[in-house]
Amino acid sequence: YGDYNQKIDYVFKVVLIGDSAVGKTQLLARFARNEFSVDSKATIGVEFQTKTLLIDHKTVKAQIWDTAGQERYRAVTSAYYRGAVGAMLVYDMTKRQSFDHMARWLEELRGHADKNIVIMLIGNKCDLGSLRAVPTEDAQEFAQRENLFFMETSALEATNVETAFFTILTEIYRIIS
Ligand code: GDP
Repeated sequence: YGDYNQKIDYVFKVVLIGDSAVGKTQLLARFARNEFSVDSKATIGVEFQTKTLLIDHKTVKAQIWDTAGQERYRAVTSAYYRGAVGAMLVYDMTKRQSFDHMARWLEELRGHADKNIVIMLIGNKCDLGSLRAVPTEDAQEFAQRENLFFMETSALEATNVETAFFTILTEIYRIIS
């Protein structure tokens, strides 16, 4: 429900990218359906999910794309990036390597996407604080240098997930309107 009979003012495509297992699918499930499933890959093959929200009295349909596992084979295609106005670069804050790969993902993104794309860096799994491998300051510094928004989230505990999506969508709206 929710979309029925509703006039849509804007459709914003936002893509999720980052290494496998950082929590992209769960972030999307949390945002779109307020769900978290332990058996994550139940949703494999689903290309995108939508959620309609109000921004500045306008109806914005967010169309959020998940790689559905393509990233494992480094085969995220240019079709994936086509038309995207936003991107979330997701790493797992308990896996240093997934953060170190952000530069590569950013390069790939900038090579494929529109130059005005709004990008947010997301450090996911902040519920696992005792296993933290990426200090907040490292991520903040990277985000500042690369001109990205930045937030730490937990798809599991629903921490900052809505805020993150709302922030990127509002920024896209600000640029486009
Ligand atoms: P993807 O490959 O990037 O789409 O990652 P998934 O969404 O499939 O998540 C990979 C694994 O991390 C799964 O076992 C999830 O249950 C788990 N996971 C995802 N988000 C979180 C989170 O915020 N906290 C914790 N503790 N685990 C998470």
